[in-house]
Amino acid sequence: LARLRDRLAKSNSTLGRGLLSLLSQDTLDEATWEEIEDTLLLADIGAGPSAELVDRLRERVRVLGTRDPGTVQALLREELLALVDPQMDRALNVDGEQKPAVILVVGVNGAGKTTTVGKIARVLVAEHRSVLLGAADTFRAAAAEQLATWGSRVGVETERAEQEGADPASVAYRAVERGVQEGTDVVLVDTAGRLQNKVGLMDQLGKVKRVAEKPLGGRPVDEVLLVLDATTGQNGMQQARVFAEAVNISGIVLTKLDGTAKGGIVVAVQRELGVPVKLVGLGEGADDLAPFDPEEFVDALLR
Ligand code: GDP
Repeated sequence: LARLRDRLAKSNSTLGRGLLSLLSQDTLDEATWEEIEDTLLLADIGAGPSAELVDRLRERVRVLGTRDPGTVQALLREELLALVDPQMDRALNVDGEQKPAVILVVGVNGAGKTTTVGKIARVLVAEHRSVLLGAADTFRAAAAEQLATWGSRVGVETERAEQEGADPASVAYRAVERGVQEGTDVVLVDTAGRLQNKVGLMDQLGKVKRVAEKPLGGRPVDEVLLVLDATTGQNGMQQARVFAEAVNISGIVLTKLDGTAKGGIVVAVQRELGVPVKLVGLGEGADDLAPFDPEEFVDALLR
C-alpha cells in the first residue's frame, strides 16, 4: 500500500499541486473556482463529479467564512474522498462457501488483462490459495502462450484450448470443471477482448459466463472484473459502458495508473458503472498490483 502512495504521487502530483496552489490564493473568486473545476476535469474526474465537488466545497467555504488554506485543503480532501465512495466493498470475492471461486477477467485487448490475471494469481498464491488459469482468449495464438508464461512464472497451471480458434466458452468450461474436480480455490479466466461489434461481444461474453457456470451447478461466477487502461481516458469510459452492457461487472481493475497524471478516472468510472475499483495496476511487473485504497489515493492526488 505504501507503494500505491509513492507511485501515484509521482504521476499525479500535477493535479495536487494545481489544486493546492489555487486554494492557497488570497481570493477565492469566481475565476479561481472555475480554474479548480477545470483542473479536476483535466484529471479525468468527469464533468458531473467535478462540478458537484466545486459546488459543495464552495458552499462549505462560504458557510465557514474561511480562507485559511489549511482548512480549505482539508475540506477539499474530504470532498475528493466522498467522490471515491470509501464505503464500497473492494475485497475480491474469493472466499465463498463453494470451491472454486471463479473470476472472469474481461476488457479490450491491450488493457492489461493477461498481465492482471498473472498478478492476481501471484497474490492468491502468496496467500496460500491454489489457483488455476483458463486461457479463454482463443482468437490470438499469442494470448494463451502469454498467459501460460505468467502461469509458470507464478507456479500455477493454465488450461488451454486444444487448437487455435477453439470456442472460448469451451475453454472456460474446462478450466472451471477442472477446478471443481481438483478442489482448486480460485479459477481465473482470461477472456478475449475483440471489440468487433457490440452484439458480437455481448453474445460471446454472455456465453463464456453462462458456460463457465455449468460446472458450478448453475451457481454464478464469483467475480467479473473489468480491466481498464487508465491512460485511455474518455475512450476507456466508452468501452467500459459496452462491457457493462454485455456482462454484469462486479469490480474494476484500473491498469497503467503509473503512466498517467489522470488518476481522476477512478472517480469517473466508478460513477459510470456503479461498481468499485478493486485493484490498480502500477507497472508491468508481477508485483505491480495494489488494492485500491481510497484514502491513500486521495492523499496521493493531493501530494
Ligand atoms: P491484454 O491484451 O488485455 O491481455 O493486455 P496485456 O496484459 O497483454 O498488456 C498489454 C500491455 O500493457 C503489456 O505490455 C503490459 O506489460 C502492459 N501493462 C499491463 N498492466 C500495466 C500496468 O499496470 N502498468 C504499465 N505501465 N503497463 C501495464
